[in-house]
Amino acid sequence: MSADIVTRFAPSPTGYLHIGGARTALFNWLYARGRGGKFLLRIEDTDRERSTPEATAAILQGLTWLGLDWDGEVVSQFARKDRHAEVAHEMLARGTAYKCFATAEEIAAFREAEKARGVSYPVFLSPWREADPATYPDAPYVIRMKAPRTGETVIADRVQGEVVISNATLDDMIVLRSDGTPTYMLAVVVDDHDMGVTHVIRGDDHLNNAARQQMVYDAMGWAVPVWAHIPLIHGPDGKKLSKRHGATGLEEYQVLGYPAAGMRNYLTRLGWAHGDMEIFTSDEAKAVFDLDGIGRAPARLDFKKLENTCGHHIAMSDNAALLQELQAFLAASGRPALSDLQRNRMIAAMDALKERAKTFPELLEKAQFALIERPILPDEKAAAALDTVSRGILQTLTPRLQNASWTKEALEPILNAVAQENGVGFGKLAAPLRAAIAGRSVTPSVFDMMLAIGRDETIARLSDAAA
Ligand code: GLU
Repeated sequence: MSADIVTRFAPSPTGYLHIGGARTALFNWLYARGRGGKFLLRIEDTDRERSTPEATAAILQGLTWLGLDWDGEVVSQFARKDRHAEVAHEMLARGTAYKCFATAEEIAAFREAEKARGVSYPVFLSPWREADPATYPDAPYVIRMKAPRTGETVIADRVQGEVVISNATLDDMIVLRSDGTPTYMLAVVVDDHDMGVTHVIRGDDHLNNAARQQMVYDAMGWAVPVWAHIPLIHGPDGKKLSKRHGATGLEEYQVLGYPAAGMRNYLTRLGWAHGDMEIFTSDEAKAVFDLDGIGRAPARLDFKKLENTCGHHIAMSDNAALLQELQAFLAASGRPALSDLQRNRMIAAMDALKERAKTFPELLEKAQFALIERPILPDEKAAAALDTVSRGILQTLTPRLQNASWTKEALEPILNAVAQENGVGFGKLAAPLRAAIAGRSVTPSVFDMMLAIGRDETIARLSDAAA
């Protein structure tokens, strides 16, 4: 594979980073990174009314959270407007564009007349297309591309196949407005060309634009990039994804507590497949990601699958890295930060905690015993387990923990012996222990909790409960 592959993500900074946009970015990132290529980021901020710095910041934050790093500086499309205008004038010089002096009224009148003739979608044919420059008036003009009038434009799309557009349906689109500002369609092509983009991977809502954009490449004699238009994401019901399906913004998923690696894995599989491979690291995904595996039908969001994927990644994570990501989650979701003590206990308990947690809130829920402080207030069920008999058993247990080695191997026989001496099964002993340590009846294993909070804290909690 060539090392010259360049992809890009080109969001418009008019809102939050949509999950569909995040997946588009991810596909571009995987494609480039898996081939030693470059992944570039361009902010399409030409719409000055709707573009905001906050939206740009949210996009960068979202990509960073998802672990998608880009090469070089972020490109501002607006900042390149002079270059876009320059290309429009170059098209004039090449004879592939022309100055059009038609007024808005003339164009409207043309359309009316066409409609009166029974043409439902009139294509404006400018009288200035072949006009002699000697006849040009001293008046404002736009620059229009001299689009082919006959024949077809064929988009060889790596996902959609060959898409054929009849040239007769496309007008001579404006590339430069009368105020000298470039149109979006021109800006995209100039930027992609100048940035050396070889593969345009984006949502199929841009498929229609590709035909017009390809004409600009042709008009400038530039090489057309590889097109890959990916179907949009749908909700679980197969309808276009919207707020009523749940979270649509990437940052909402961060706040809901999905780990970034799980999200990355899930989004990679959303509309792309490689055999029956479901769970993979980023390196594994980079190695096998290709355009052939992108499906032609819209992918459906499946929250259950997202959770399962995230559960696998939490279980696979390195404990220290997981704790760090958990802390970022606490900050992002406005929860209080962990104290040193809480951090230490969580690290000690992490192997047990991460086993069946699918999200950070689930992980925190399991870690509850490590996060609370004495006095532990038992809930109703736990309080019932702390009856007189059980409290008596705890009293006989506590002194024996004083000098025991603090390992599961050493603690297990002690607990078993105490249970036996009191003529109860281990289960009967575990309930008051859970109640004393966590104040609950459903907790991680008694040993995992004891090991995580340590001897002194264990003895203190048991003594509190026994008193
Ligand atoms: N700015 C466009 C969008 O956010 C993307 C344009 C492109 O990828 O060519 O939908």
